[in-house]
Amino acid sequence: MADLATASRATAGPRSSELFAEACRVIPGGVDSPVRAFGSVGGSPYFVASAKGAYLEDVDGRRLLDYVQSWGASILGHAHPAVLEAIAKAAARGTTYGAPTEGEVRLAEAITEAVPGCDQVRFVSSGTEAAMTVIRLARAATGRDRVVKFAGCYHGHSDALLAGGGSGVATLGLPDSAGVPQSAVSATLVAPYNEVPEIDESVACVIVEPVAANMGLVAPVEGFLEGLRAACDRAGALLIFDEVITGFRVGRAGATGLVGVQPDLWCFGKVIGGGLPLAALGGRRDLMSQLAPIGPVYQAGTLSGNPLATAAGLAVLERLDQGAYLELAESVGLLARGLAEAIGRSGLAVEVPVFGTLVSVFFSDEPVRDYNGAARAAQRGLFAPFFRAMLARGVALAPSPYEIAFVSLAHSREDIERTVEAAAAAAVEVAQGLGS
Ligand SMILES: *Cc1c(COP(=O)(O)O)cnc(C)c1O
Repeated sequence: MADLATASRATAGPRSSELFAEACRVIPGGVDSPVRAFGSVGGSPYFVASAKGAYLEDVDGRRLLDYVQSWGASILGHAHPAVLEAIAKAAARGTTYGAPTEGEVRLAEAITEAVPGCDQVRFVSSGTEAAMTVIRLARAATGRDRVVKFAGCYHGHSDALLAGGGSGVATLGLPDSAGVPQSAVSATLVAPYNEVPEIDESVACVIVEPVAANMGLVAPVEGFLEGLRAACDRAGALLIFDEVITGFRVGRAGATGLVGVQPDLWCFGKVIGGGLPLAALGGRRDLMSQLAPIGPVYQAGTLSGNPLATAAGLAVLERLDQGAYLELAESVGLLARGLAEAIGRSGLAVEVPVFGTLVSVFFSDEPVRDYNGAARAAQRGLFAPFFRAMLARGVALAPSPYEIAFVSLAHSREDIERTVEAAAAAAVEVAQGLGS
């Protein structure tokens, strides 16, 4: 009896546990990205054998309703037939050439047509690279060094941008990263999200997640993004929207299309690669033309604009019409209302912010509007038992209180209802745990 209870409570089955032990011998912490570790929720990770639509199957044969979806990279759900076909067709023609391909042109056209003001894009292989390069470009274009970012916003793991990092660094409770020289961050200023900081003429650029989604979901308050735009314009600084999560997820024009503020430069990633390693920086033609080979700002990549990745990205973007976003927003709305109601009924204080197709859960009795609020909610310690209770019911959330839930187009109404039922039971269990 006790064994059964323990087995159903374990975050990983026997085969996953075995693989994790093997992994830990040859891979630090057993994972290739620290956000995959279960340190903040307890236990060890499930190893994935395969995935289809909204579901994962782990190596122990357990079926999990997946709200990680590769951290938002899989908006159509896993293994969408059209995406698999596009990848297979591309692969049959060779997997990489180190020479230009038509796929890059078509995907660049799709992005620049969808995002107003974004005239050109340069493809890279990760969001980290996109953000790192966009900062270099902004510094070159302005002849200034200072970068302003916001606490709890994540822009990848390049040295200058790790300060106040959100996401994985927040989960691990790291103030910053070791190994980053003071000189690399001395020009990075970290400001609280949702407050317009003072921008003077030493500032090259302000980089921001227009809707913050790496400290849980924190939407911009009225006037925040407008204020940033105005402050940048006054100081001659550039405004950068990091839309690695929001791009093509909240709508075809990303957050830019919804917030009524236009940046000078953008970062994209996740959705645009269709589940393969691809990201991009983009912006006004006059700025983008400062990149090598026509400009002095160097940037390069052996696998940049990879033909499999552009094929996958195009297959995904082709399917993202207005109907798709309405459908996704409907699923997200249903999930958000259901979670707020189900968890609220247990007596636990909960906030379930929604921004279009984005949603997250804070165990908080006050609306969260910045990183301090997100951290206060996380410190209540309710997410970990909730996460484990959900996993025991077959629902896989991201293993951190600082991540959002990624709903895909493959999540059916039934899946959402199952999730809400699981949350109701999980919340009761967590609340009872508090009482005992
Ligand atoms: C995921 C993410 C990144 C980093 O992208 P990687 O491909 O993981 O390097 C950058 N910015 C934001 C907003 C992200 O969510």
